[in-house]
Amino acid sequence: MRKRIAGLTLLAVLASSAPLASPLAAQAVSAGAQAPTRTIFVGATVIDGTGAPALPGMAIVVEGDVIAGILPVEDLAADVREGAEIVDASGWFAIPGLVEAHTHLASVADRATAEFILNRQLFAGVTTVRDMGGDARALIDLQRASLVEEIPAPDLHFSALMAGPGFFGNRRAALAAAGERTGAVPWLQAVTDETDLAEAVTLARGIWATGIKVYFPFEGELLGKLVPEASRQGISVWSHVSIGPARPLQVARAGVRSMAHSCGIVQAAIPDDVYREGEEGTRSGVVEVDLNGPEVDTLFATMKRNGAVLDPTLRVMVPRPWPGVAESDTVGPEVPGVADTARGPGEADNPDPEQPPPPPPANTRPRGVVADCGLEEAIEATRLAYEAGVMIAAGTDGTSPPDSVFPALHEEIRYLHEWVGMTMMDVLTAATRHGAVALGREDTIGTLEPGKHANIVFLRQDPLAGPGSLRSVELTVKRGRLYYRRDFVLGAPPRPGLPGEVR
Ligand SMILES: [Zn+2]
Repeated sequence: MRKRIAGLTLLAVLASSAPLASPLAAQAVSAGAQAPTRTIFVGATVIDGTGAPALPGMAIVVEGDVIAGILPVEDLAADVREGAEIVDASGWFAIPGLVEAHTHLASVADRATAEFILNRQLFAGVTTVRDMGGDARALIDLQRASLVEEIPAPDLHFSALMAGPGFFGNRRAALAAAGERTGAVPWLQAVTDETDLAEAVTLARGIWATGIKVYFPFEGELLGKLVPEASRQGISVWSHVSIGPARPLQVARAGVRSMAHSCGIVQAAIPDDVYREGEEGTRSGVVEVDLNGPEVDTLFATMKRNGAVLDPTLRVMVPRPWPGVAESDTVGPEVPGVADTARGPGEADNPDPEQPPPPPPANTRPRGVVADCGLEEAIEATRLAYEAGVMIAAGTDGTSPPDSVFPALHEEIRYLHEWVGMTMMDVLTAATRHGAVALGREDTIGTLEPGKHANIVFLRQDPLAGPGSLRSVELTVKRGRLYYRRDFVLGAPPRPGLPGEVR
């Protein structure tokens, strides 16, 4: 299973065959090749993220920005050590760099806030983030700045959003396209039966998006055409579980790569005939559902068969900790009377007892049925998905308070372990490999294996002992570059008044 290397020849081969599948990797090449430097982390206990047991006393050999080999320290040849920078990792645990699978860094473009969040993530072990919708003009600039090491930040992947025209009356959608017409720009595209889907997908690829995010309202039939076209052009489709009128089962059957928000599973439990009555206007309001019924079973079986990853985003279900800023990991303010771009119908729960319930979203269809979903239901739905063997990715759709020195992803990891009941090994997989799968980047990141990006977190405490161990981070390595926790500076919290704020 583990590829071991002994000499320089193989190292050189591995270094020159660094995968170029991702746009980020391709950019790294064009950014200018520096002479490869070798760093060897010596003596760590390695949990490589493949599911293999922890291996103590290992050396991780990093050549430039890729892992060249992982081998027992005693097998390390003298010629490999020669000229290498040696980092004493004895007593430390090494895990793959964490992937935050669901964030919004530029709902409204604000560079200072985004940098604040990204810096905090990187120094706490997050080496990759997936942005699920925002102003791509800002996101691509952040992606570049991170890649060329202008700013300390995880690698940033982002999406181009597509939805039915009904979505774009949303003020937040307008803010994410400020200066242009929302719905008619490559990162926020209104799509209908009339849309040339090949062109729409090409536009998304043209702005360097890693995935297409589909959002409600979305027709099931249209999704069934979009996914193969996206696949033909080599780009992933990321969806919410619930993007009505398309039902969750249709979303899973279409073959999307990831599905967001556990509350969508609760909506999936509404039987088809009841849902149809809602669509036809003969029934409305809240309906009781059975999460153990055949609807949910079929959904899970389909997700599993098609390799769809669920990002439950429990963090966004707990009381928001950052007053004045939207609960999703956005830089935009809460806009009263406007649907959160992070949510679909029936998902806009407000669990904070101190906050008044939000007004109904302006773009919610007036009729239809909905199943109640709060934190408790979201946890239960996640637990059932986990037990059914659906791949779970750790994404927050949320953020930590400005004075917190750790990112929201650490909290999501804790919730998945303590509330959902996932083993720490499975939680680590959720926060690493499954995040990579959700991105479609499992060939280059997500595990510690030769040939992959050197994205590594070194911890003082055993991560399998519990989620609190993540706070013992000593060193984050991203693409071979070292970020010691002792050098972390939280910095000034972003200003409370943000651009576009309506008060
Ligand atoms: Zn979201």
